[in-house]
Amino acid sequence: MHLPHQTVETPVFMPVGTAGSVKAVPQDVVETLGAQIILGNTYHLYLRPGHDAIRRMGGLHRFISWPRAMLTDSGGFQVYSLTQLRKVTDEGVRFRSHLDGSSHFFTPEHSMDVQIALGADICMAFDECTEYPADRSRAEESLRLTMAWARRSLDHFRAHQHEVPWPQDWVPQVSNLRPGMDGRTQKLFGIVQGGMYHDLRRESAERLVEMDFDGYAIGGLSVGEPRELTLDVIREVLPLLPKDKPRYVMGVGYPEEIEQYARIGVDMMDCVLPTRAARHGLLFTSQGRVNIKNKQYAEDQGPADPACNCMVCRRYSRAYLRHLIQCGEPLAGTLNTIHNLAYYLGIMQRVRKDLAPVVTTPQPVNP
Ligand SMILES: [Zn+2]
Repeated sequence: MHLPHQTVETPVFMPVGTAGSVKAVPQDVVETLGAQIILGNTYHLYLRPGHDAIRRMGGLHRFISWPRAMLTDSGGFQVYSLTQLRKVTDEGVRFRSHLDGSSHFFTPEHSMDVQIALGADICMAFDECTEYPADRSRAEESLRLTMAWARRSLDHFRAHQHEVPWPQDWVPQVSNLRPGMDGRTQKLFGIVQGGMYHDLRRESAERLVEMDFDGYAIGGLSVGEPRELTLDVIREVLPLLPKDKPRYVMGVGYPEEIEQYARIGVDMMDCVLPTRAARHGLLFTSQGRVNIKNKQYAEDQGPADPACNCMVCRRYSRAYLRHLIQCGEPLAGTLNTIHNLAYYLGIMQRVRKDLAPVVTTPQPVNP
């Protein structure tokens, strides 16, 4: 994937950097771990420090000092999951901030303006994440809104994407102001919704492909549905999305899931699981999940994962990691997160290697 700040090898896992930080880990370490692209949350950055402030400082890359690729979500998911007193109309969503109760109004156009100001390499269309379970009429209504908002997002994005606050050498040439993965302009992805209804999912995918986005995401998964349903929807939708554009499944998943999805053709995934679980002492390892708080690790001199070569496993013992979390030391969150990210990024690296075309040298023809 040729993006303005990085050529990203797929399939790729994107660590979540909610408020301009992959929680507990400095950017130079995230780079060292091999992350090619991280995700920022539009809702959080819009509230603090505000997209206008970030625009004035030259965009999110410069503000947080992250030289590689970045993706921002549309803000929709947090509006639905974090705020109260929401009012959804065809025009947009009115909601109260989870921080101070202040009132805000988000429309597809506003979400695009905020994401252009943040200046991520990839922006996401403003959608409504259909909850689970949702009955047929609710899923239909939600999809109707998401499709109308996708059109409005795309039109507004194309008209304003040149306003991105990148330093001069990133400003696209006028001749390049065309949609497409040309590596010089911000990209916009559409989001397939439709609940767990396969025909609605198909309709959603087909209509988005007609609109011609730079890439496509499958949203509304990992919202509490059983894992078989998640896989069913992915299997249904993937073949409908163009193979030559990135296909992104949002908000998944456990290590075995991201590996499975990557092997069936998903190019991009993001999830808070490795970072959030780490802060609670849950480590993902080649031997399964390790709850480092357990007493059995109190004097365990081995590394978190004997098969892992990350900077934490090379240096620290399970006993020490347990001690840190028992004492409430901030370093616990940092070290645990570094290991979990290394583990997730390692899975994708392995899958990429397995999927890479085998280069064969032609055998000389025997005379
Ligand atoms: Zn490790």
